Amino acid sequence: MQTAVEQIRTALTSAYPVIVLVGPEESRLEALVTRFANAARPEPLPVVSWNCADGFTGSGPDETANDPDPLDALQWVADKGGRGLYIFKDLDSYFDNPRLVRRLRDTAIKIRNTGKFLFLMAPATELPTTLKPLSYIVVSLFPDETELRTTVATFLKPRNASTDVLNRLVTALKGMSLIEVEHLMTRLLAHYQSFDEDFFNEVLAEKEQVTRKEGILEFVPPAEGINDIGGLDQLKTWVQERSDLFTPEAREAGLPIPKGLLLMGMSGCGKSLAVKVIAQEWKLPLFRLDMNLVFAGVHGSPEWVFHRALQAVEAIAPAVLWIDEIEMGVAGYHEGQTGALTRIFSSFLTWMQEHRAEVFVAATANRINLLPAEIIRKGRFDQVFFVDLPNQEERKAILEIHLRRQGVNPANYDLILLSSATRGWNGAEIEQAVISARITAHAKNSHPTQSDLLRTFGKIIPLSKTMSEQLKAIRSWAKTRAVPATTPEKLDL
Ligand code: ATP
Repeated sequence: MQTAVEQIRTALTSAYPVIVLVGPEESRLEALVTRFANAARPEPLPVVSWNCADGFTGSGPDETANDPDPLDALQWVADKGGRGLYIFKDLDSYFDNPRLVRRLRDTAIKIRNTGKFLFLMAPATELPTTLKPLSYIVVSLFPDETELRTTVATFLKPRNASTDVLNRLVTALKGMSLIEVEHLMTRLLAHYQSFDEDFFNEVLAEKEQVTRKEGILEFVPPAEGINDIGGLDQLKTWVQERSDLFTPEAREAGLPIPKGLLLMGMSGCGKSLAVKVIAQEWKLPLFRLDMNLVFAGVHGSPEWVFHRALQAVEAIAPAVLWIDEIEMGVAGYHEGQTGALTRIFSSFLTWMQEHRAEVFVAATANRINLLPAEIIRKGRFDQVFFVDLPNQEERKAILEIHLRRQGVNPANYDLILLSSATRGWNGAEIEQAVISARITAHAKNSHPTQSDLLRTFGKIIPLSKTMSEQLKAIRSWAKTRAVPATTPEKLDL
């Protein structure tokens, strides 16, 4: 996505009479408009601002100064206002009034190519249909790096901080609004005398707090490392080979940055676990986007919520964006429905191809038959992996991991026997069985024995038994479309 400055420049040079500024921070966007006005040639342009409570403020016209009527204000711009940038706040709350929409449209037509521009501040991108051809929408939910740098540098100036501190802070503060940055800098500078690790830890804690407020993206704290995954050798090699591509050295060397990975396959086989491991191995923060939440409508229209999420993660980049159950967002498209799903899917594909931010998309899918060919086509994701049920060697590794996690020594068990007893199970089922055996043993004040484990295993019916037909279909579908996450010769099913 372009920065706000780039978008405004495009809107002005394309001579759109109405420029809609979408973002939570009016003052920041207003400051950007003023910057453009001051830089105008041959001479700076005046900036006039209107809101529904005070009418025109600042350098507005005298005759309507105390009249907040939006129709009169627009009429004044059309008939009497000179060349300049006119910022209108609150107009979106009048969009259900046909007279206002008519006046806005007529004003827009009248001021075309006259050196007058209307800037509408709006919290979301919904516009009356008739205005769309006359408008350019600028979406800027977060300050860009230059804006952040300017603000942070102002705070650091009296402290003679090094460029290193400035760079580190700018990276750490990405994704926060300027107001939040200002509050945080004021608080921290009053409290800390030096820029030590405690200082930066507090910055990161605040950022986590901010992304929580965001609501759409969930920050997933780092936990699991590559040794917490049993099996999936080909996937692990792929991840490890790319572990230093997001470093400043790789950037300087001009190495291509991976765009994304699609993990599809059986439920409970470690797809989500693998995403967490990627973030941990590559030392990137992980943000999860829940497609169910996108469509729930709680945070606004699905398209808007999705767009917001992509902008938010770009602002926080470098980062891993985990799109869980991606089929939720594309299923409708596949079935030929129109509407929000189609638009979301196509804008996602365009974004995947065009975005410049260091965002690695890790998408996971279970119902893979719902995935359309476009998403799997080369060029969108760097790799598409199919995650199958674990083979014997992998089940042995998974058992070892989970036995150790339950505080017992795997060396005390016949792991070959136990892994044979769990043929056809997924990793989540193995984990649950080990936990259950431990709880039973704990009630008797002991550790689970080999026969305790076998007894617990005997009570579990794995999903693959009840879903054998689906399993076959999924495997044959994936055969030609994805790379196996496990070396195929090793499969024992
Ligand atoms: P779903 O598609 O249903 O979300 P999934 O493939 O994403 O499933 P996970 O959520 O990663 O599966 O697996 C659930 C849990 O099962 C993991 O948190 C982990 O504890 C355990 N598990 C699954 N596969 C493995 C594995 N290969 N190695 C170690 N643990 C595993």
